[in-house]
Amino acid sequence: MLAAGLSLRQRGYRGRFAPSPTGALHRGNLRTALLSWLHARLQGGEWLLRIDDLDRPRNRPGAVQRIVADLRWLGLDWDGPPRLQSDRRGLYASVLSALRRAGHLYPCGCSRRLLADISAPHGALAVYPGFCRQGGIGWGPQQGRLPSWRLRLAAGPIRWQEESARPGCLEGAAEVGDVVLRRADGMVAYHLATAVDELSLGITTVVRGDDLWASTGAQVAVEALLGAPAPSYWHVPLWRDAQGLRLSKRDAAEGLEGLREGGADGPGVIGLLAASLGLVPEASRLSAAELCQQLTLPLLMAAVHRP
Ligand code: GLU
Repeated sequence: MLAAGLSLRQRGYRGRFAPSPTGALHRGNLRTALLSWLHARLQGGEWLLRIDDLDRPRNRPGAVQRIVADLRWLGLDWDGPPRLQSDRRGLYASVLSALRRAGHLYPCGCSRRLLADISAPHGALAVYPGFCRQGGIGWGPQQGRLPSWRLRLAAGPIRWQEESARPGCLEGAAEVGDVVLRRADGMVAYHLATAVDELSLGITTVVRGDDLWASTGAQVAVEALLGAPAPSYWHVPLWRDAQGLRLSKRDAAEGLEGLREGGADGPGVIGLLAASLGLVPEASRLSAAELCQQLTLPLLMAAVHRP
């Protein structure tokens, strides 16, 4: 499966957009989708839609259908069928077993409560302090619960090719740490599923929101353990409201429904998303395909990273 992905990469650019179906896409998500689509299409590339639906309790009924309908309405067409992570659990399980057998994972019994108690007063502990790294925990039915499984991450810099202004580099031990790849409740963690998918789906370029920049270190580390070069990454700025806060899927007014209620149609919304980056004048109306035709890759990159 991973080998098939690597040969897909030889065919050229393959990008992806990977929303979680936790609600309707807001205009920030839509703008990221548009940028990812433009980046792929301007390079004659393929663009996949992956649905990150592993975290079942957070999924909202009907969200997948809405995401699909909203992207279609905006003319952001993807190649092949949407790829659901929930259909790929067998693949993640076999990769986890292989990593475990090769000694790259260790069981961890630290509860979230314990980690929260020792963390800084504001916010969760960023990097796991490695309490369970030296082993010695015999896991069996007597524990009454399962361990999580953590990546035994080597110290040293983790580098990746990054198209945003911030260089792609994190220090493994101090800034990434031994992340969880399989949660104690059995759920496959985001970093594992994402790394496996980038490789098995043959993704060459990941364009996604800036909030995921710090996640890249762990994902690139897993990709390296799986024996494949990481894709290249472009982390794009998030759309922030007037107070500088990021938009939330919980705020329905920020989604397409709110925009449609305000009278916007597809070309109006593409104009709004593109104008927010200075790609077109305010109040422009154009389709995604027309926007693509009038842009070049250097123009796109320069507009997004204009100081
Ligand atoms: N599913 C993640 C989200 O919606 C994005 C994953 C990714 O692009 O790597 O935030």
